[in-house]
Amino acid sequence: MGAQGFEDVLAANERYAESFRHAGLQAQAARGLAVLTCIDSRIEPLRMLGLEPGDAKILRNAGARVTDDVLRTLVLASYLLGVERLAVIAHTDCRMAAGSETDVHAAIERAGGPDTRSLAFLVTVDQAATVRGDVQRVRSWPYLSRLLVGGFVYDVESGRLAQLC
Ligand SMILES: [Zn+2]
Repeated sequence: MGAQGFEDVLAANERYAESFRHAGLQAQAARGLAVLTCIDSRIEPLRMLGLEPGDAKILRNAGARVTDDVLRTLVLASYLLGVERLAVIAHTDCRMAAGSETDVHAAIERAGGPDTRSLAFLVTVDQAATVRGDVQRVRSWPYLSRLLVGGFVYDVESGRLAQLC
């Protein structure tokens, strides 16, 4: 017996599986693309880029930041999973670009959370500069020298993507 609280998604999955049409897809990214974007629930990574399951590797974290774990994943994706290009996609109205690290720690504490000052949330006060810096981090990393990298900002109100670099 599994944990309670997932009945809605299990029921929806039953319906999904009844008309499942992705059997036989390859694990390789068919469009040679990886997308790094934020966890923000307003973002639809596949639909907003005209992608289908099987087309791309999707990496998500708070703020769409290039972290050590993202780099690790990209090495695998680049050499083993057909990824040749990476789109780093930040977005407007991102909580990770709306205040200082101190503000986020304080907000979590106000929400009843613990003292999180031992965690780095990687917030930014200059989103465009941060995207450019993260893109440069990937471009300059020797393990990923084959990868084409672009930096973008997605507008959550218009659905439009603007390329920064
Ligand atoms: Zn965000």
